[in-house]
Amino acid sequence: MNASLLIDGALTAGEAELEVINPATGQVFARAPAANAAQAEQAIAAAKRAQRAWQALGYSGRQPYLETLADAIEARTEELADTLNRERGGPLAECRREVAITAGALRHFATQTLEDEVIRDNDDELVVAQRYPQGVVVAIMPWNRPITLLSFKLGPALITGNTVIAKPAPTTPLTTLLLGEIAADILPAGVFQTLTDRNDLGALLTSHPDVAHVSFTGSTPTGKRVLSSAAETLKRFTLELGGNDVAIVLDDADIDTVAPKIFAAAMINAGQVCYATKRVYAPRSLIEPLTEALVRLANEAKLGDGRDPATQIGPLQNRMQYEKVLGFIDSVNNDGGRILTGGEALPGEGYFIAPTIVRDLTDDARLVSEEQFGPVLPILAYDDIEEVIARANASEYGLGGAIWTSNVARGVEIGARIETGTIWINQHMALPYDVPFGGAKQSGIGLQNGIDGMKDFTQLRILNARRMS
Ligand code: NAD
Repeated sequence: MNASLLIDGALTAGEAELEVINPATGQVFARAPAANAAQAEQAIAAAKRAQRAWQALGYSGRQPYLETLADAIEARTEELADTLNRERGGPLAECRREVAITAGALRHFATQTLEDEVIRDNDDELVVAQRYPQGVVVAIMPWNRPITLLSFKLGPALITGNTVIAKPAPTTPLTTLLLGEIAADILPAGVFQTLTDRNDLGALLTSHPDVAHVSFTGSTPTGKRVLSSAAETLKRFTLELGGNDVAIVLDDADIDTVAPKIFAAAMINAGQVCYATKRVYAPRSLIEPLTEALVRLANEAKLGDGRDPATQIGPLQNRMQYEKVLGFIDSVNNDGGRILTGGEALPGEGYFIAPTIVRDLTDDARLVSEEQFGPVLPILAYDDIEEVIARANASEYGLGGAIWTSNVARGVEIGARIETGTIWINQHMALPYDVPFGGAKQSGIGLQNGIDGMKDFTQLRILNARRMS
């Protein structure tokens, strides 16, 4: 596999190499270029140069570029999905779905516009709110969903007239570089560029005076570093950070119906999703049947390399995360919990951890209060609704959550009291392109997707005119 950076329209070698490990085997399967500071400077300068002409195209001029890019991504689905499976892990069918979401996001935003809004128009005055692009956007990405999450930035940022530099995580560079290779033949030079690093270009990119907006998705600690380095130049930023999402099961829920959905919500991408269910609260009357159902599902789940069509759960993406999740498992005993199934790594070199179901922890246990980002799920009992709402809201995070009930009106009523950016009722991870999402509290600042997500990539300008009589 011969991957290149895309800088100023040219596919370019890096100054160093990254070894890319397949987490299903633990073996290096490819090498990727890593950019240096000079190449980052070159990319920022090219993005700045390209931005005026891109802006001047207007929405209708930019639309066909995004649509052509979406078509080209779709045409290379197998290659992208294969690369994603090898570098990130996970079932191939899921990887194909992520490619489809990526193309779909570009196609959706290609047709969206932010129109001028007339605030006053009378005999004396004309006041109009306009939105214009901010300039150069840097998109810094995590390793768990490298291209779908990028497309939620790329579509809105490009269509509103910004240019974008994407920086993937060092352990998952290849799908983003492939996206750059595809875009090289479609977008004007400098409009979209790719830079990979060894976790060493973040500070340069987030403090650079010619970068107008940093759109960051990743962990809360790194998000805080991004926030402080953006302060010097007062740049705009979007922070999509960690979460500790609850699933609240109401006492009217049908366990046979909801247990598989909760299991899937917790084990999606081996639990490595910001919105994955990370703690389950069940009424004392239902906790035993729910636990039994989740343990059964965990025992039945097929773990393995996502290239096997039977695989449901893949590996942890990298060794560091694998060790971190094993540390969470170790903490269960110290914190007085019971591991009912799983609780161990699979033999072999791959980073596989068996789906693990845990009971009897208290809310201050590490596995309950922190973000595990892995296939380890604590189930906790509650006695009344007021109590469970308070416990759900006690987290420093506020990303998402789900309520499971046979009575949707009751779910909506309780949902309206949960302090998160999104709360789902009887579903999970529905993230349509036209619906904004973002984190409350330490889960982030700013929005993605929807018209609000587009607005975040623009500057509001008020035109305020007085008519001369
Ligand atoms: P991370 O914070 O370790 O890394 C994210 C990115 O930041 C990487 O590209 C990394 O190279 C870069 N980076 C490292 N140091 C930097 C610095 N000083 N300045 C700027 N960038 C720097 O996160 P991760 O481990 O890759 O991802 C997992 C985390 O991401 C989890 O906490 C998860 O919840 C979160 N996440 C959130 C969302 C969301 O939408 N809220 C989505 C996916 C993942």
